[in-house]
Amino acid sequence: MLSNAGLLHTANLHSVQRHILRMLNELPWMHDYVELTYMPICLNVLFVWGKCNLRCRMCTGTHAANYPNQFGYLTAEDFRRTLQAAPSAKGVTLSAGDSDPFLHPEIESIIAVAREHGVHFDLFTNGHALTAPVCRKLIESGVCGMINFSIDAATPETYKRIRGADFKRVIGRIEMLQAMKKELGQKNPWLSMSLVAMADNIQELPEYVRLAQRLGAGRVYVEDLNGWNGRGSENKPAIDNPDWPAFIREAKSAAAQRNAAQRSAICGFPWKTGEKNFGFFPKAQRAAQQGGGRDQQ
Ligand code: SF4
Repeated sequence: MLSNAGLLHTANLHSVQRHILRMLNELPWMHDYVELTYMPICLNVLFVWGKCNLRCRMCTGTHAANYPNQFGYLTAEDFRRTLQAAPSAKGVTLSAGDSDPFLHPEIESIIAVAREHGVHFDLFTNGHALTAPVCRKLIESGVCGMINFSIDAATPETYKRIRGADFKRVIGRIEMLQAMKKELGQKNPWLSMSLVAMADNIQELPEYVRLAQRLGAGRVYVEDLNGWNGRGSENKPAIDNPDWPAFIREAKSAAAQRNAAQRSAICGFPWKTGEKNFGFFPKAQRAAQQGGGRDQQ
């Protein structure tokens, strides 16, 4: 009936409007709901998708039969319109759908638009496409609270096996970020590093924690492998490695030493650890985190 435009003109339309408004006013929770609907504090915006510069072994997206392998992105102008339509938004999750945020051809304009509108975001990246000008802009703008580099390995060999790319290159990008922050006297974006735990990389977790410490990360984020059960691939869960408990103990011990060192230096960003599911799961330094969201890069 609603699609029958003839019925919804003038008097009919007004009576439908009155009915809806009366109904809304009778619901005690409706005011809160309307505010939530119309005044979002956080937005989740898909801003790049469809094609990636890596083809990681355990990436379910890029290995899906229907993966488009065709790049798409939200223009900076559309991003501006989105923020104009949601003036209450303070944080944005810039999601990369089986792609990487630094492949966005207008990333510098996206940063500028976020700054204009006073919104903050976090980024999850494989790191390879981060350039020096974009890195500087991210730091100077102050809009990026955190960058997570998804690495999954502590050695070039394992990195190559899992992510098929150059380990030194991604570590170089992290060092560039950290050096630039120091030069500009900025703490953000703070550094997070993640690892998808599998049977053939869990042995590197202790070294990964030490690597993250050396690079100045505030968090090591460890996830279980998802989406490969029964698919007969080389992607096996970490618990298939019989020695996984020992690697986790050692990684936690390395992280705890970092905690102690940070506390004695009265650092505001302690290295925290916890456990989830089968194992090791360090937590974020929430104080520095301003945006939201995450993905499995
Ligand atoms: S895991 Fe992330 S970086 Fe790797 S291929 Fe998939 S989308 Fe690209």
